[in-house]
Amino acid sequence: MKIIAVNAGSSSLKFQLLDMPEERLIAQGLVERIGFDEAVFTIKFNGDKISSTQPVRNHKKAVELVVEGLIKQGIISTLEEIDGVGHRVVQGGELFKDSALIDDEVIEKIASLNDLAPLHNPANITGIVAFRKALPDVPQVAVFDTTFHQTMKEEAFLYSTPYEWYEKYGVRKYGFHGTSHQYVSERAAVLLDNPKAKVIVCHLGNGVSLCAVDGGKSVDTSMGLTPLEGIPMGTRSGNVDPSVLALVAKKENRTMHEVLEDLNKRSGYLGVSGFSNDSRDIVNAMNEGGERAGFAHRIQVKRIADYIGSYYVYMGGLDAICFTAGIGENAPQVRESILEAVKVLGVRIDHEANAKNGEHVISTKDSTVKAIVIPTNEEVMIAREVMRFE
Ligand code: ADP
Repeated sequence: MKIIAVNAGSSSLKFQLLDMPEERLIAQGLVERIGFDEAVFTIKFNGDKISSTQPVRNHKKAVELVVEGLIKQGIISTLEEIDGVGHRVVQGGELFKDSALIDDEVIEKIASLNDLAPLHNPANITGIVAFRKALPDVPQVAVFDTTFHQTMKEEAFLYSTPYEWYEKYGVRKYGFHGTSHQYVSERAAVLLDNPKAKVIVCHLGNGVSLCAVDGGKSVDTSMGLTPLEGIPMGTRSGNVDPSVLALVAKKENRTMHEVLEDLNKRSGYLGVSGFSNDSRDIVNAMNEGGERAGFAHRIQVKRIADYIGSYYVYMGGLDAICFTAGIGENAPQVRESILEAVKVLGVRIDHEANAKNGEHVISTKDSTVKAIVIPTNEEVMIAREVMRFE
């Protein structure tokens, strides 16, 4: 069966065409700069990469380009070959405890959550509407970043704020990167040969979140109402005392909303180092003696260690720490710093193994807590979800 996994942003549309249940990647691509005259469509398959530039007015046009491209390149011969489409949707709130087969009502429900994810959900809906037009007879499934975390208990997801904010506005922790945390923790359970394993998944990319998974269920995660909460990231601050907003707004004669933008876009690695949001630059500069790059790295490592310690206590033990996403999969020095910071938990790094990338164990045989690199695959997770509805 051929399933398309879609990730629609406000001006981009990424997709993968997968052969299921084999989970074989057939083709992948993206349309960038949707809404502009010089939009770029790129498609990769069979080791080839083809790019073209043309005006793409809206997502409907982008989807047409993708579907026509698949046929034109001979990747599929007719649209009937596509058996399902899975859409990544960022915010499912409390309305979606599971992925959902898309109909008009589901789209309305997703739209009702727009206030909770104003940058993401409207763009996700645009992608859904465009694919429904192009492939009206094909089942389409919404797969949410938040669903996996809907198993958290009140003490983990409620903020200690006036309770009516939760009741009236949905102010609570939702968590994100759910498809990644689910994919990696399921894989970890297989590698550990233990479906009841207690694992902590460290998704370290431009966005960073940790998730405590106990017996396959998310019991806590570091991101919150929005992806800003938790650990410092490429450009996000992670946790700060909210009073910072009022202080800086007053000092700089700006609105709190503008200062909030700084916490999202000018903080983290970028804000502390003063020059880059990229982990490679930060590690290189630190190794060459850059003081502020060193601070950026060490603040993040300390915060990750704080969360790991807290999740260890909350779960009452730990079988494995898993690393995934751009940094987790590719930055041995970051992994080493983190494992060093939590060695009191009984995790012992195998330096030779840690120097390598790809899926493998990076702790020693006598390590009581295992450390494992597991490359994430959110598209496969989305396609698996679509398969459940076929
Ligand atoms: P996103 O959250 O946008 O999906 P990614 O998972 O691609 O982000 O992660 C981006 C981060 O991964 C960047 O900080 C980048 O420096 C880091 N990264 C990517 N490749 C490497 C590499 N080969 N070595 C070290 N870091 C890497």
